[in-house]
Formats: sequence, structure tokens, C-alpha cells
Amino acid sequence: MRCYICDTPAQPIVHPDFSEYACPHCGTYKISATAMALFEMHNWKFNVVSARHWITRQLQAGETPLIDSQRAVFLT
Ligand SMILES: [Zn+2]
Repeated sequence: MRCYICDTPAQPIVHPDFSEYACPHCGTYKISATAMALFEMHNWKFNVVSARHWITRQLQAGETPLIDSQRAVFLT
């Protein structure tokens, strides 16, 4: 498996509703199953700079960021 944001090899922890990635470049984040389906359906790519910036801010606030389908729209 690869990081959804930057394509670096990363092993996700898969949950029924989301997967959790610990990417060495992007940090730790969760992505919802709905968001992953949207990315595959539309062949979207993350805006790497925006996504990493958002993740960093969430981690600084003490949260593990969750990219849901609404958030994903703003990070492509
Ligand atoms: Zn990454």
C-alpha cells in the first residue's frame, strides 16, 4: 500500500470505516472509506502541500487528522 497523499510506501492500519496511515513524509492521518472511494472513482490526487500543511496543523492541535469526504474535496 502507498500513502494516499504522496505515494510513499506505507502500511495502513485498516479499520472498517477508515484506514490509518503513518507516512514518513506526511505524518499520521486517517482517511475514511468514503473519501478513498471518491478518490478512486474520480481519480483525484491530493494537493500534497495543502494536505501536509493541514495534517501538520491537526497534529499540532493534538488530533490525529481524519480526512473524510468533505475534507478531501478541499485537499485535492
Ligand atoms: Zn505521504
